[in-house]
Amino acid sequence: MEESARVVKQTNRLAGQSPRIGVLALQGDFAAHANALREAGAEPVLVRKAEQLAEIDGLVIPGGESTTFLKFLERDGFLGALQEFVRSKPTFGTCAGCILLAKEVRNPSQASLGVLDATVERNAYGRQIDSMIETADTKLGGGPLEMVYIRAPRIVKVGPGVEVLAKREGYPVMIEQGNVLAATFHPELSADRRVHARFIDMVRAHSACAHAASGVTEGS
Ligand code: GLN
Repeated sequence: MEESARVVKQTNRLAGQSPRIGVLALQGDFAAHANALREAGAEPVLVRKAEQLAEIDGLVIPGGESTTFLKFLERDGFLGALQEFVRSKPTFGTCAGCILLAKEVRNPSQASLGVLDATVERNAYGRQIDSMIETADTKLGGGPLEMVYIRAPRIVKVGPGVEVLAKREGYPVMIEQGNVLAATFHPELSADRRVHARFIDMVRAHSACAHAASGVTEGS
């Protein structure tokens, strides 16, 4: 599709208030994210091929096993396409998704998309407490948020451009940097849709900016 035609199509879709948001569906709990996105007002698209990245306004990288994601992504050039996508379009990573977005991964060190200025330690809470549900305040407003942790990583360091939206035991558990949102917990497994709503707002804001910059308005 020609770029101008694609932008017009995307503008029309956004005018309908329902951004199309991909969920990387190679592995992990992508179905719960698709459901959460739908409930929060977006149109979810399960993304299994690199070509699909051209048709979405934002992307969720779900929880699962980051090493398994990497194996799938490295197989058919998907990693390179994804790297390009996350540099220019809003992306939200939860748990394994957060690990994949971070610049530095420890325990052990592994490849990543490197777009989030953060150092993340995998499986940081040990085997005994590998799953837990907690409630904590966040910068999202609206009171405490339920946070489900499953073999969660710990964000041990963030760069100056990173905004910390929530913390647990002094460590960030939800962070934002430019177009990237990341959480070490699983908001898709709770009934509260504030985190997905925030991401949808990021996607809408980004698309509005992109369209303004391209000079294409609705109906043109
Ligand atoms: N422990 C997993 C990893 O290291 C992440 C777990 C999750 O996504 N729930 O990739």
